[in-house]
Amino acid sequence: MAAAWGAGRAYGHPAAALALAALAALAWTLRRLAREEAARMTANARVVAEQQSERTRLSRARRLAAQMRALRNAAGALPDGVVLLDRDGRVRWFNHAAERLLGLVHPRDRGIDLAERLGAGPVGAWLRQHRELPLNEVPAPGDPAAQVSLARIPLAGGECLLMVRDISALTRLEQIRRDFVANVSHELRTPLTVIHGYLELLEPEDVPALAPVLAEMRTQSKRMGQIVEDLLTLSRLETRERLPEEHVAMAPLLATLRKEAEALSQGRHQISLESANDADLLGSPRDLHSAFSNLVSNAVRYTPAGGRIAIRWSRTPDGATFAVSDSGYGIPAQHIPRLTERFYRVSSSRSRETGGTGLGLSIVKHVLALHDARLEIASEIGKGSTFACAFGAARVLEPGADED
Ligand code: ADP
Repeated sequence: MAAAWGAGRAYGHPAAALALAALAALAWTLRRLAREEAARMTANARVVAEQQSERTRLSRARRLAAQMRALRNAAGALPDGVVLLDRDGRVRWFNHAAERLLGLVHPRDRGIDLAERLGAGPVGAWLRQHRELPLNEVPAPGDPAAQVSLARIPLAGGECLLMVRDISALTRLEQIRRDFVANVSHELRTPLTVIHGYLELLEPEDVPALAPVLAEMRTQSKRMGQIVEDLLTLSRLETRERLPEEHVAMAPLLATLRKEAEALSQGRHQISLESANDADLLGSPRDLHSAFSNLVSNAVRYTPAGGRIAIRWSRTPDGATFAVSDSGYGIPAQHIPRLTERFYRVSSSRSRETGGTGLGLSIVKHVLALHDARLEIASEIGKGSTFACAFGAARVLEPGADED
């Protein structure tokens, strides 16, 4: 203002100076008002922004809560049982299916120790073992008429999700399939025996013109008979949970297997037997013989004349192993995982030519499973194969001990 006053005087007219001073005062006031307005606007803007961000926060929280509800509703309605367990195995949450299958009650059972609640049954025992392997086909603790399979899915922080799958429908279907196969095989057995009997009665010399046909008919009826017998054996093994457990003396069994191999080979192979005779087995003599004999017969049938076949029985650090090695055709690697499936063959013509039914290794797998043993297959094309049956220490007995 002093500057404006000075400037007015400089122009030499007091009125001009006064006007200038008034103008300067007005300008100053306007600037102040503008500053105050700007400050007010900034403050308002901040309040609006804060309100907006609060609204955003609230709507995000609401959205998240809605998503959580939707997830819970979805998990709650799943046909499979789902239980969320904390790091100590205590129940944090479970869905409706888990209530039915495990017998849990909502909300009473939140926080209970699930393994303790399920007690000594198979599910409780499995939960206590902390095993990563799933538990298959056991009665549901909450509904004994239902069959379930269980799996544990580990989560972050030591928690885990327990999945309980109701497989009752599948089990029923599987039972129907088994019964059907067993019944068909049973029904076929009698007519086949009759046909086979009549074919045996016919002498090729009596009908020389039909001699080759007769020979083929005999071979095929024998094959059909063998398929029926193998199917019946499989049905019997599938329906058993346990086999008779006896002391199986390995020395005579190995000698029989060797004789069988020699009879089948008819001198075409070099057959050896290696055993320290330092271990016997606990199990079913008839079924173990059938499994081992299948492996020996395969070795002979899939090894060209002049090849070698070795039957070995030896103790291992984990138990004992029965193995049959051959120097035969070998098996391409991609077929190995499927060999124990029913009727799975690497070469159908070779299997049929040698009288195979396609069921031998399936029988071996079942017999071994019932003896808590596993089948190990190693093979190289053109060099040969080794089929080994690995038994755990619990199955190995001292020779002669407790023998009947
Ligand atoms: P099969 O009656 O056809 O021999 P298996 O179940 O005993 O049926 O064997 C399944 C298939 O596995 C056979 O068809 C054959 O292709 C293969 N296989 C089994 N053992 C041997 C072996 N020692 N060497 C080569 N191939 C084998």
